[in-house]
Amino acid sequence: MECTDRILSCGYTGPVSVEKKEDILRSIVLYSTVRLLPMLQQICSGMKLYGLLSLVQKEKDICRQLFVLGSFSKVDADFLVKSLSPVFSEKGTMRRQRECRVVNFLQEFIQDMEDEGDKAVLINVGKFCQWLTGQAHIPLSHADREGFSITIEFDHDCQVRFGTHSICYPIVNACSCSVTFPVAHLTTQEEFRRVIAQAITYGYDFGRS
Ligand SMILES: [Zn+2]
Repeated sequence: MECTDRILSCGYTGPVSVEKKEDILRSIVLYSTVRLLPMLQQICSGMKLYGLLSLVQKEKDICRQLFVLGSFSKVDADFLVKSLSPVFSEKGTMRRQRECRVVNFLQEFIQDMEDEGDKAVLINVGKFCQWLTGQAHIPLSHADREGFSITIEFDHDCQVRFGTHSICYPIVNACSCSVTFPVAHLTTQEEFRRVIAQAITYGYDFGRS
């Protein structure tokens, strides 16, 4: 009985009783829908202005992610590792060896992040992807997903440029989806983890020191 007022305000005019539950529910649903319709229509005409409405109608699955909370496909380690596209030096060179080592560290790091889950580490795969590409979800459309790649470049010469110094951080260019790793500072898995973790934790444009 405590809901009687609210039921009546929905436009239901019959007796309020458990037996009439179905009728009452129908009235409430109708009332709520009718109230929402003008708002939805307004959104539609707004989207039409930018040609978005026809796109939404055509690409329902892709666009659902824009409107429904939590429907973004999360990044997983597998997707990320597959997207890595290193620009290696010539085969057989010392540089190439070091570059391969860095890529191995990176793959291991990504896999560990996923295995350890959110609780064990401050950085998860989503956060890492955000740092690297500017977005924490995988690209929306199938075509974008297929073409998605993260360019990995290597800097071998920071010692030459800066003289004696203790640390450099990877330089990310989120717009072009590329990252340059300072090879000289990434000689062990531990060192790699430490440098990456610091770079992600302390932001995008961490300078050299
Ligand atoms: Zn350096």
